[in-house]
Amino acid sequence: ELQQQIYENVYWGHLNNDNSEAEAKELTEEYIAIPGTSEHMTGLAADISDPALYHLENGLITEFEDTATAQWLYENAADYGFILRYPSDKEGIIDVKYESWHFRYVGRENAQYMDGNNLALEEYIAILQKNEAIREQISELSE
Ligand SMILES: [Zn+2]
Repeated sequence: ELQQQIYENVYWGHLNNDNSEAEAKELTEEYIAIPGTSEHMTGLAADISDPALYHLENGLITEFEDTATAQWLYENAADYGFILRYPSDKEGIIDVKYESWHFRYVGRENAQYMDGNNLALEEYIAILQKNEAIREQISELSE
C-alpha cells in the first residue's frame, strides 16, 4: 500500500507538471519501482543516508555521495556483504538510474568479488550463469 501511495504521489506530481500520462509514467519509473516489484520487498535492500540530509527527500538524493558516510560505505560495504546496487557507471546495463543511497546485501564473498571486478549484480549473475559447475548446482536446486 505504501509503495502504491509513493508511486501515485510521484506520478501525479509529474502529471501535474505538464507531462502526458505516458511521460509521467516514464519519469516515475526512472526511480520508483512498480508497486510489488521493489528490491526492498526481498528484505535484502536498504536505503542509507546521512542525518544531515534527512530534511531533503529523506536524504535519498544523489548528493549523498559527497558525504563522509557515503564515502565510508563505498569503501567498506563489500566487507559486510553489501553492494551499491545502482552505480552511476552502470546506468546502461541496469534498468534503474543511479541511486547513491541504495545498498543490497549479496553476501561478503559475492560483494567483494563484484567490488573488486567492478561488476553490477546483473553482470555478476551473467558470469555465474556461464559457469557450468554453477549452472549444474542451480538446475539441481530447481529439481
Ligand atoms: Zn532503495
